[in-house]
Amino acid sequence: MASTPHERPAYLAVVHRFVNSLDLDPADWSDEIQNAGELTDWLRADCALPPGEHATEDDLRLALHLRTALRGLARANHGEPAEAGIEELARRCFARLPLQAVPGDVVLAPVGLSAVRAALAGIVAGYATAVAAGEWRRLRQCPGDECGWVFWDSSARANRRWCTMAVCGNRAKVRAFSRRNTT
Ligand SMILES: [Zn+2]
Repeated sequence: MASTPHERPAYLAVVHRFVNSLDLDPADWSDEIQNAGELTDWLRADCALPPGEHATEDDLRLALHLRTALRGLARANHGEPAEAGIEELARRCFARLPLQAVPGDVVLAPVGLSAVRAALAGIVAGYATAVAAGEWRRLRQCPGDECGWVFWDSSARANRRWCTMAVCGNRAKVRAFSRRNTT
């Protein structure tokens, strides 16, 4: 009997898009957030940043650090400890994007932040909600060489390793095979 896929919760959609705003695939490299103007555009499109609000250089630095931290935490979702410095980086970013509980609501709200920072804090709220709900572990960064894509693992056992078995899984298998046969 085929099991139904475990669906990604709606609140994780924006977190997922944010971590994949950087695509490391050398054949198709792209980064949607390379300057403050692009961060503004991204937040406008994906986080409903109000018109007239613009990201500063400092916001850009914070956003890129946050993206690095969340990508690192998604990498650690394969069950290995996070790379050195990732948790500390995450802590520093989270400290600059404070959230507070709202009575009667499951959503964490930004505290005293500019519109841009509030949008970034919303991404942190999605992450925190996912951790609390036990869903964060399913957002994983592919460990494939030259990949780094973050995928949602909808498998029943939550044990998928590669973004696509056909591409990254096979590459790893071929490499392991050639290592075994050349030593
Ligand atoms: Zn991959």
